[in-house]
Amino acid sequence: MEKKKFEIPVIKRMAYNVPGKAGTQPGVEPLAEIDGIPVSGLLSRHGSPLFVVSEKTIRQVYQQARDAFTSRYPNVQFAWSYKTNYLDAVCRIYHQEGSWAEVVSGFEYDKALNNGVGGKKIIFNGPDKSDADLIKAIENQSYIHIDHFDELFAVIRLSETSTHKPRVAIRVNMDTGIYPRWDRFGFNYENGEAMEAIDQIIKSGKLELSGLHTHIGTYIMTSNAYQMATDKMAKLAIKIQNKYHHRIKYIDMGGGFASMNTLKGAYHNASDTNPSFDQYAESITGALLRAGFERDHLPVLILETGRALIDDAGYLAGQVLATKRLADGRKALVLDFGVNLLFTAFWYDHQLHPVEEVSDTKDEAALFGPLCMNIDVIREQARVPLLQKGDQVVVSRVGAYNMTQWMQFITYRPNVVLIDLNGEEHIIRKTESLETILKQEIIPDHLKS
Ligand SMILES: *Cc1c(COP(=O)(O)O)cnc(C)c1O
Repeated sequence: MEKKKFEIPVIKRMAYNVPGKAGTQPGVEPLAEIDGIPVSGLLSRHGSPLFVVSEKTIRQVYQQARDAFTSRYPNVQFAWSYKTNYLDAVCRIYHQEGSWAEVVSGFEYDKALNNGVGGKKIIFNGPDKSDADLIKAIENQSYIHIDHFDELFAVIRLSETSTHKPRVAIRVNMDTGIYPRWDRFGFNYENGEAMEAIDQIIKSGKLELSGLHTHIGTYIMTSNAYQMATDKMAKLAIKIQNKYHHRIKYIDMGGGFASMNTLKGAYHNASDTNPSFDQYAESITGALLRAGFERDHLPVLILETGRALIDDAGYLAGQVLATKRLADGRKALVLDFGVNLLFTAFWYDHQLHPVEEVSDTKDEAALFGPLCMNIDVIREQARVPLLQKGDQVVVSRVGAYNMTQWMQFITYRPNVVLIDLNGEEHIIRKTESLETILKQEIIPDHLKS
């Protein structure tokens, strides 16, 4: 007869799943399957830990976001934010859905080209663009979003020897009621710097001013900020029209929509508080439609949404390596994935789900990763069922920023598997091995013997 698991006896109040003072409680329901595929099978075929990406969720969420905007505004273009998740298979799904590419480095730019994105459908953002990057972007007729005056002068200088007239926009930063303010990127609206940059672009006669760009921050929990930002962008566009009789083609409102992950220290569950795509869309398109553009000349609305599009499509599956008691009596679980793979654990209260129904009893526990480093904490404290060594677990909503900000530290990065619309599994990034790492290392001769 098998020995039964010991469970600490507890008396608890009945919960009827109604919101309490702090809203609804995030559940720790088992997550046995991803898109109909048992997690236990995925782990046995591809190893543990394992990132799993759902193509179905990527497409569904993208279509929801697109519909929220296109049902309100005639001319909308999404551009996939590469840094949010630049695995080629993932990017190609967005490109198939009609997304352009939004890149912030020469590396990301090359990745987009390599994915077959035409130069005219690449938006080049960020403060770091080398002359070589800029020349490539100019010749490919990509949209270069200028971040600072030094870059503006560089583009003007490079235009003298290029075959194409550079297509540019400026990045604008502004007060939208969100603090701390993101004023380190682009040109400021309120102090007149943005208009000054525009004056220089137009007066140079060397550049094509195609649009205006802003990215007001990330995980913005109020759609009002977008309304304020859109108002200011539209005012700037109309000012350019009046002053220079020049119509810009597009207004790019950047990314920053919050996903449904709950921030650390938040009182409420994110799904109770964060705006929907419809709310963001209403704020942005409402402001554009009211701004006073001629009906036949509404600027194209570009969106560079990252985390809100992909967070729900990513899962990290793994297992419990050990359970232990800390010196102060607290319970702790050691998991086989840590902050090396789950960078977003630094600011989100990630949800850990058991794969199997373990027990009804939940207990507070610290969730540690496998690294021999004190910082390797997934949750300081979380309510989890009574998990034991070998039990499998899944963290949901990890699609954004983890498969790019992960680090090769102490251990290898694992396989990433995509589940396609037919339930087929595809490894889209192979696990690393000693060979992967050593390929980049060079041993000087005097250390060889
Ligand atoms: C990171 C970034 C995005 C995507 O931001 P999210 O907050 O993930 O939506 C979009 N545009 C620019 C310029 C960025 O740097």
